[in-house]
Amino acid sequence: MNPWPNPHIASMPDLRFSSLKLINSKNELTTIEPATPFKIYVCGITPYDATHLGHAATYIAFDLINRYQQSAGNQINFVENVTDIDDPLLVRAKRDSLDWKVLADNQVNLFLTDMTALRVIPPAHLVKVTSSMKIIEDFIERLDQRGFLYQVGRDHYFSVEDFLDQMPLSNDDAIKVFSERGGDPERAGKKHPLDPVVWLAHQGDDPAWESKFGLGRPGWHVECTAIAVNYLDNGNADPIIHIQGGGSDLIFPHHYMSEQIVKAAYGRGFAKNFVHSAMIHLDGEKMSKSKGNLVFVSKLLSEGIDPMVIRWALLSGHYQQDRSWNEELLLKSTSQVNLLRSVLAQSEVDATSELMQSIVADIANNLDTPSALSRLLLWAKSSQSSPKVNESGLVSRGIDSLLGLAL
Ligand code: ZN
Repeated sequence: MNPWPNPHIASMPDLRFSSLKLINSKNELTTIEPATPFKIYVCGITPYDATHLGHAATYIAFDLINRYQQSAGNQINFVENVTDIDDPLLVRAKRDSLDWKVLADNQVNLFLTDMTALRVIPPAHLVKVTSSMKIIEDFIERLDQRGFLYQVGRDHYFSVEDFLDQMPLSNDDAIKVFSERGGDPERAGKKHPLDPVVWLAHQGDDPAWESKFGLGRPGWHVECTAIAVNYLDNGNADPIIHIQGGGSDLIFPHHYMSEQIVKAAYGRGFAKNFVHSAMIHLDGEKMSKSKGNLVFVSKLLSEGIDPMVIRWALLSGHYQQDRSWNEELLLKSTSQVNLLRSVLAQSEVDATSELMQSIVADIANNLDTPSALSRLLLWAKSSQSSPKVNESGLVSRGIDSLLGLAL
């Protein structure tokens, strides 16, 4: 499908870009070497509650990686899916007496508008699951050929047992979390409680697609791996991609299972690094659908909140630290954005080259945006008291390219 419009990345020949360093899911500070192309897959939305601030924070975090690689002149292939068929979507459609397709289309449109407003660079490939059934079927067939597929009733499962090493949590906790996130550890007839369903047989009036595995629809984990491998595998890379990204709620089971399914299907690793963004809280409580306290980007925009203020507010906290959204943050961010805007409109400002090089270094240092924003504010204040050079345009273009802040 067509993603949203692509914002311009200015060339910045005077700046030096070192290799990006990121903290991965093993809590290691790892150097992300440039590659041609650099391959990243970010798990996309399930279009029924889009786009809340948790989503926005995640896509802005991975947008910083995209912007950094592009600003550094590195080639990047960025793929993201849209899980436009899944249980929660069907449940929501039934609750609201809507056709599931209409609900998904409306939410995808909102998401595209929100991403455009927030100046997130669109992925090279934004892929709907409902447009990927053949790719997913072929992937499941691979699991079958390699002996890792079995049936319980009419449903098909991936047999994960041979790959259950280095779990990020204990077996008991894994089973508990697996159950909370759509798994069915207690189903009779399964070989292992953690085996995930990869093809769910047709039930009632739920939507379904024809396949070698009967009429049905795919399971969650296999969708992402099938799409990622289809768009990003060059045939021999091991691991196949450089980063799989998403919110920290995807560490287990989703990303763990993605890794094991690819190992089973291809005999190669999936992602060199798994990188996660933390959660957004509302007034101290985790923002989640179950608590009913989601704040939506579209709602803020409709209230007249400047999308650059939303972006600034999210960047003012570190992407890997759970952080709070509240009225105070919004007010503070509004005044900070206003300060920057007024300084960038001045004909003369304080010196810029050290500022811009330091912002590049901040981003290279595990996307340290709070530090970058603090530097900008200090620079803005000194620009008000001691303007020296006619270079505000350089800062404007630089922070738009690196931070996605068009001020
Ligand atoms: Zn995914």
